[in-house]
Amino acid sequence: MTLIFLTRFLKPSKLIPSTTKRTPSRLLISIPRSIPKATTTMSSAENRPIVISGPSGTGKSTLLKRLFAAHPQKFMFSVSHTTRKPRPGEQDGVHYNYVSRPDFEAMIDKGGFIEYAKFGDNLYGTSYEAVEWIAREGKTCVLDIEMEGVKQMRASHLQARYLFVAPPSFEELERRLRGRGTDGEVDIGKRLDRAKEELEFAKTEGIHDKVVVNDDLEKAYKEVEAFCLGEKEKDQE
Ligand code: ADP
Ligand code: 5GP
Repeated sequence: MTLIFLTRFLKPSKLIPSTTKRTPSRLLISIPRSIPKATTTMSSAENRPIVISGPSGTGKSTLLKRLFAAHPQKFMFSVSHTTRKPRPGEQDGVHYNYVSRPDFEAMIDKGGFIEYAKFGDNLYGTSYEAVEWIAREGKTCVLDIEMEGVKQMRASHLQARYLFVAPPSFEELERRLRGRGTDGEVDIGKRLDRAKEELEFAKTEGIHDKVVVNDDLEKAYKEVEAFCLGEKEKDQE
């Protein structure tokens, strides 16, 4: 049954087997227990996942919050697993599934992740469950992941669409990271180092379908929304 959902997003010739059944359910604390059956609520083949990436602090969460508020019936956030501790205001199962490192590693061993990566001192990953559950809901799955995850998604045969959110400048990115007030100096330094890599990687030909510079929030949001709704851009094939 699981495979049926994933095939909706996969290139027809190559299917990756889902390992969902082997994932320990105790780790999947955010996924509603009563998963809808595979019926008419399944998403269409056009309902391709959207992968959003960009340096930490560039404004991805801010933009996505608006997108989900404006289109609650259309888009749903792929809640990742992480070993990072929750920030004030973050909720388990909403922003992330917060798990211990041993539990995260057990989930890796059991093949529970479509992709995962180390970022700073922590691990982050997208579970098969998270993506499949959204497909069952008939909504478009939106992932917010860093560049190693983007590479793995690209290699996974999932036919996602890729959007990169860039800061207007490196100085402004640093201002935003500090202004957010969620990370200590050491962590900010690591995030800025990683930002340089992310910005360099984003120059790779064909890696992203669209780049939005988040300078003016209103303008950037309109561009993100249009991309997610598939408007204007002929970037889907
Ligand atoms: P990310 O999810 O990419 O790490 P956030 O959404 O947490 O980034 O944004 C980082 C900080 O930048 C937050 O304090 C947010 O309010 C601020 N921010 C986001 N977009 C803009 C913008 N266009 N102009 C100014 N500040 C912004
Ligand atoms: P933060 O700690 O600021 O929430 O996230 C740090 C970085 O991890 C961000 O760039 C974010 O996009 C990325 N991230 C969040 N979830 C995942 C995930 O499931 N997989 C990968 N590869 N990166 C993720």
